[in-house]
Amino acid sequence: MAETRSICCYCGVGCGVIIEHDDGLIRGVRGDPEHPANYGRLCSKGSALHLTAQPAAQTHRALHPLVRPAKDLPFRRASWDNALESMADRFAACIETHGPDSVAFYVSGQLLTEDYYVFNKLAKGLVGTNNIDTNSRLCMSSAVTGYKATLGADAPPACYEDIDFAELIFIAGSNIAWAHPVLFRRIEAAKERNPALKVVVVDPRRTATADFGDLHLAIESGTDVALFHGLMHILVWEEWIDDAYIGGHTAGFADLKKRVREYTPAEVARICGIRADDLVTAARWFGQSKSVLSLYCQGLNQSSSGTAKNAALINLHLATGQVGRPGAGPFSLTGQPNAMGGREVGGMATLLSGHRDLGNAAHRAEVAALWGIEHVPAKPGKTAVDMFTALAAGDIRMIYIACTNPAQSMPDQASVRRGLSRAELVVLQEAYVDTETAAFADVLLPATTWGEKEGTATNSERTISRVRSAVAGPGEARDDWRIAVDFARRLERRMQPAYLARASTLFPYSSADEIFREHAATTAGRDLDITGLSHAVLDARGPQQWPYPAGADRGRKRLYEDGVFPTADGRARFADVPFAPVAEKTDARHPFRLNTGRLRDQWHGMSRTGTVAQLFQHVGEPTLQLNPSDLERRGFGSGDLVRVESKRGGLHVPVEGSSELKPGHAFLPMHWGSASLGGEGGLGINVLTTAARCPVSFQPELKHAAIRVTKAELPWRLSAFGYAPGGDALALRAALRGLHQCFPYASVTLIGRDQPGVLFRAAAATPADSALLARIDALFGVDGPTTARYDDAKRGIGRRVLVDGARLAAVRLSGDTKAESWLREWLVAEHDVATSRPLLLLPTAEPPRGFVSRGRVVCTCFDVAENVLIASLAAEAGIAEAALSKVQQALQCGTQCGSCLPELKRLAAETRRDHAASIVLAT
Ligand code: SF4
Repeated sequence: MAETRSICCYCGVGCGVIIEHDDGLIRGVRGDPEHPANYGRLCSKGSALHLTAQPAAQTHRALHPLVRPAKDLPFRRASWDNALESMADRFAACIETHGPDSVAFYVSGQLLTEDYYVFNKLAKGLVGTNNIDTNSRLCMSSAVTGYKATLGADAPPACYEDIDFAELIFIAGSNIAWAHPVLFRRIEAAKERNPALKVVVVDPRRTATADFGDLHLAIESGTDVALFHGLMHILVWEEWIDDAYIGGHTAGFADLKKRVREYTPAEVARICGIRADDLVTAARWFGQSKSVLSLYCQGLNQSSSGTAKNAALINLHLATGQVGRPGAGPFSLTGQPNAMGGREVGGMATLLSGHRDLGNAAHRAEVAALWGIEHVPAKPGKTAVDMFTALAAGDIRMIYIACTNPAQSMPDQASVRRGLSRAELVVLQEAYVDTETAAFADVLLPATTWGEKEGTATNSERTISRVRSAVAGPGEARDDWRIAVDFARRLERRMQPAYLARASTLFPYSSADEIFREHAATTAGRDLDITGLSHAVLDARGPQQWPYPAGADRGRKRLYEDGVFPTADGRARFADVPFAPVAEKTDARHPFRLNTGRLRDQWHGMSRTGTVAQLFQHVGEPTLQLNPSDLERRGFGSGDLVRVESKRGGLHVPVEGSSELKPGHAFLPMHWGSASLGGEGGLGINVLTTAARCPVSFQPELKHAAIRVTKAELPWRLSAFGYAPGGDALALRAALRGLHQCFPYASVTLIGRDQPGVLFRAAAATPADSALLARIDALFGVDGPTTARYDDAKRGIGRRVLVDGARLAAVRLSGDTKAESWLREWLVAEHDVATSRPLLLLPTAEPPRGFVSRGRVVCTCFDVAENVLIASLAAEAGIAEAALSKVQQALQCGTQCGSCLPELKRLAAETRRDHAASIVLAT
């Protein structure tokens, strides 16, 4: 088996992986013990990466260029030459007739730095437009503007190692336990080594991370700035600030001091909905700890006041001198694997290469000189939300989208899709043919992806790692940078820009390394200077942090250790920012505050993780969570279908009670788009979210929308599940997606583990007609003579059961679907039904005698389910603290990737509490 070192392609932790492969196929993956981001660890998503590269999961890969002859016609296969020539013709004509700003590029934090560099140069250098933005706008643009407003440059000053040196870890707006699990393992280990380490978690939800904290500040959504000002008020009042640091290294403290005067503990407690005592405790720990490390992510960034939230938190570090020392610093965690690389090359509408600013004429001139062009356009480009609005308005006519899925991930989907439908030309460069955005594409260019590409990526702590190709891409798929270069050269020939008199092309690259070296040259003398790096250096010395100037032999762990900041006078700036509440207030019609976020085992729009059945075992469908008291007050039962509506649209989902949420708050996972969640409107979760955005970073407020929740009036239910007749679960799922629009509610997901099956659920006001039922039966293969049938036409109930040998192969329940739970578990567990056949058609909702549900799977690595865990923990409850390790020894749960450890600990604590209560009752 050959082995290739690379990195995980999911979150910004940037874990190193070793890919095991032979015969051109990826066979396995394990953590790279030498990579400084993870030292061999991987989370549940990373350790399943190889499963996304198996032939069964690759059936939806884009293999050849596809072109639609007309908007409403299906794709036809095209040659690379034809597809790119026609694109170049149309782009060139559009630019000539309507100007460079009539086209746009929307790229991705999943692209490698080299890909990003070429796209940025293509837009700003060749086309002459700053209309290039990225899905990183939805992820960390507030972190960029927050850093620049205070520290003077977009550079996270801390590193992962600081977790080991911190006395206080202050986590704000981040469920690290689920979103950055390997980093969370480091926090757990630090706490184990040093029980005196304090962890404060600021989050409206009691997440797994909040559960772990010593103090949880469950603030009302959007009140972070008031909280940080309140902490500053106490720090000043109690003289827990560092006057010497403030005087020697900062500016602007007097104005901020005036601002925070009114943020008294009582007032902040009122605004934030927390106890004043807790605020004082958090301030005391912040002010009196020798080293404070803040970790923050989307809760601060995805906000209509995202820049203010970031800056107000950084203010606390400046006031206490908690920057540039081991264990200290404001550390923004990036959501995507290479959001940092995109920032470095300036791949956004508001940035330029090498951390330069578009609004700075000298910076524009520097970039123009580096690239050998006349000038870089001064007019700011459209940022993500505005780009799609401009498409709808006809101001932008053509868009080139690479490696991202805006028809799933952008807020206010109705507007985004209006833009995509009205565009004259939508080019999509993608590894997968079935993303939501592919439905709007006129041209689909097949791209290589993880395990197939060469280049570099930068993680949250400024570490640049090599990304390596282990196997060739499928079909005619090409690397993203190669496609962009090929297109750029064709467009260049048509546009005949002035620089062609001096150079044959702006894009002379024949390898990713050549692009990297040009990018590195643009950073000379900048805060991120990487002129000492190349692919060869990274290959020889391993991953390196920036800056890494020429002549260096290693990167720099921490920034600003000398207290000198990259501002005109070398001083950091306190940001005197006002507190502004969320953009969309709740009211009598929309009384709930909706928060959206990540699940433990899924990634973004699920185009990759969604191909692996075992990653649906923890959470299989999008469920709206409400506080149990809200459930009771509204008369909802757990599992009931509800209608959720914001001012922009609505959808149906099941509801469940969760004590993680305060009354009046609601949570939905962000991952489900229209491909997996169908029904009326069919726009996915982001039909609900708002495009309101931060006025400085232009990052949308995905973390808050006002919604209402009512009972769904859809009494008729259908549940069909089983193995695909031809064995191709993804093909069956794709076919079922085609039926989504036939029902007001429909969802489709994968079930099982080694052999994936499919679960399709639907609901309607009246029973589906027999023709529609027949289509579903045919897809699951429960329409043949060997299928057992039960029909009660009077009650509208039907059941189809197909048994293969002694195990269930597929089931369709309609009218009454209560038997789904146990029949589905039997099917997945390959339960022997030879002696239970009479039960299979019995029109009863009751599970058969002796049936015990496993519940959802908590430990994905070892397939350990919740009810098995609860029973095992209860059996050992008498030995209190040791119960969990005893159960872990027996079941192995939590002993591989560790992503389930927070949940295991919570279950163990609950079992201990129940056990103690039962003893009290008994006595
Ligand atoms: Fe990948 Fe998990 Fe590491 Fe993030 S924490 S990079 S998802 S293995």
